[in-house]
Amino acid sequence: MLAPNSRERLVVIGNGMAGCRAVEEIIARDPTRYSVTIFGAEPYVNYNRIMLSPVLAGEKSFDEIVINSAEWYAENGIELLSGDPVVSIDRVEKTVTARSGCTVGYDRLLIATGSDPFIIPVPGKDLPGVISFRDMKDVDTMLAAADAGGEAVVIGGGLLGLEAAHGLTLRGMKVTVIHLMPTLMERQLDEAAGWLLKTELERRGQTILTGADTAEIYGQGKVEGVRLKDGHEIPASLVVMAVGIRPSTALAREAGLAVGRGVQVDDHMVTSDPAILAVGECVEHDGNVYGLVAPLWEMCRALADGLVAEPSGYRGSVTSTKLKVSGIDVFSAGDFSGGDGAEDIVMRDAARGVYKRVVVKDDRIVGAVLYGDTADGNWYFDLLKKQEDISDLRDLLIFGQAFAQGGGQADPKAAVAALSDDAEICGCNGVSKGQVVASIGAGACSLDAVRATCKASASCGSCTGLVESLLTLTLGDEVQSGAKTLCKCTSFSHDDVRREIIAQALRSIPEVMQKLHWSTPDGCSSCRPALNYYLLCAWPGEYVDDQQSR
Ligand SMILES: Cc1cc2nc3c(=O)[nH]c(=O)nc-3n(C[C@H](O)[C@H](O)[C@H](O)COP(=O)(O)OP(=O)(O)OC[C@H]3O[C@@H](n4cnc5c(N)ncnc54)[C@H](O)[C@@H]3O)c2cc1C
Repeated sequence: MLAPNSRERLVVIGNGMAGCRAVEEIIARDPTRYSVTIFGAEPYVNYNRIMLSPVLAGEKSFDEIVINSAEWYAENGIELLSGDPVVSIDRVEKTVTARSGCTVGYDRLLIATGSDPFIIPVPGKDLPGVISFRDMKDVDTMLAAADAGGEAVVIGGGLLGLEAAHGLTLRGMKVTVIHLMPTLMERQLDEAAGWLLKTELERRGQTILTGADTAEIYGQGKVEGVRLKDGHEIPASLVVMAVGIRPSTALAREAGLAVGRGVQVDDHMVTSDPAILAVGECVEHDGNVYGLVAPLWEMCRALADGLVAEPSGYRGSVTSTKLKVSGIDVFSAGDFSGGDGAEDIVMRDAARGVYKRVVVKDDRIVGAVLYGDTADGNWYFDLLKKQEDISDLRDLLIFGQAFAQGGGQADPKAAVAALSDDAEICGCNGVSKGQVVASIGAGACSLDAVRATCKASASCGSCTGLVESLLTLTLGDEVQSGAKTLCKCTSFSHDDVRREIIAQALRSIPEVMQKLHWSTPDGCSSCRPALNYYLLCAWPGEYVDDQQSR
């Protein structure tokens, strides 16, 4: 074991998701190899950026989205210099200097500066009240604006824009979404799914303007509204620009590193300077840049392998997307544009608001769009990534894994069992089936224990069902239940139900039962009084007390 002062010095620029994950991966392979210093521009410990949307929506607190607490840095001997951005890199002296003037020497430097939000160059873009959606400071600004009430405009109907609009709506603002293209989330959704999404958001009270082009943001000293190119004006005290991101490359460029769309790296995440590595959204690998978390888990593994273990090499990533808006399930992966030789398998269930489309080419899945029922998203994505031949499953493919692999009989357990070990279970934290099973094998006997050990299901919770199935599959009767469910009619706990009533703006007992998939038609003597009470608390003065349910 190396003494602390004889270790190589690793300096990390960026205390975000990629920078810290890379350090975690290095420590897991060799905890004594490096003496680590991390510079962070933000004044916080490492948090899960993708969970800013649930924080804005009031579903999580900041403390609940912290990935590594101050104790983690201390326990691992990591020096964190937060709230102090690095302003220059001296590659000859091998030092970095931060805004405070603090200069630190390195043997290895890791650039993990993420992305900068793209701001459309329209008049008024710099007015107070015009913000992006990238960090906790932006969330705080939105919360303050929502406290004052009024109207908000979100420019950009992609993933980030819609999550911002959802949060602001729940916080009581009247929200208009302006989207340049005719279809919301057009890079992830086809026209049919985009239409379903738009219809549901409008039902929830948002105004969605597609095919709308911003001409100007106006206001005297602060934002007062947005004017479109067709002359239409939308008053607003807050404008959120969510029109895209650009890799944050200024530091690397000024230091003379090779930079294209991002900081250029090889398969081991090494830049044009062998002493400097880069990882996360700031990099360009093989001509590609990424704006999602899944690639960075893979990059960080390759980086750590290259630094302290057997070099494995990063080969690029195939990505999938989920929208984090409570009660609206949307999943998209791969290429759904069709084209020569591509065939569509489509299922529509209008009554349930379900639309599924799987695009197949040469007996391989090349794309999938799911709206309303995304339970099989991971399975389709696994088949797509592995390019497995689906000709035997084809007739039942669209009905999902449980049917297709059960030969027409739904068998959810067999479905989970059939997932490969490297199939992704938790996208928010980059946890595979193999890692969940290993965590259960190491003694995690309940959902909470799995969450605490390998982090699966600890963030947005959309993979909770899969983790529970893995627990049952691995432990059978030994599974310890965590939070108590409300009653036998539902798998939701009391807290879950209360949270979902607010998050999904559910206003009646039948609506709660419908949206939360109650297993009985009218509930029971335990859940009906509870639901009546929770609705009364959630919508005082609006919900009419149901004496019968009491
Ligand atoms: C609201 C929101 C929701 C999202 N939802 C999803 C989702 O559902 N699924 C998904 O896959 N992805 C999602 N993403 C994208 C995901 O968060 C990013 O892919 C991920 O955070 C990228 O990690 P990173 O470390 O490269 O960048 P970041 O996490 O942004 O970290 C970069 C860090 O470097 C710091 N930094 C920059 N310059 C300097 C400097 N000079 N000195 C010191 N520090 C510096 C920044 O302040 C930042 O803290 C979402 C992003 C946002 C903003």
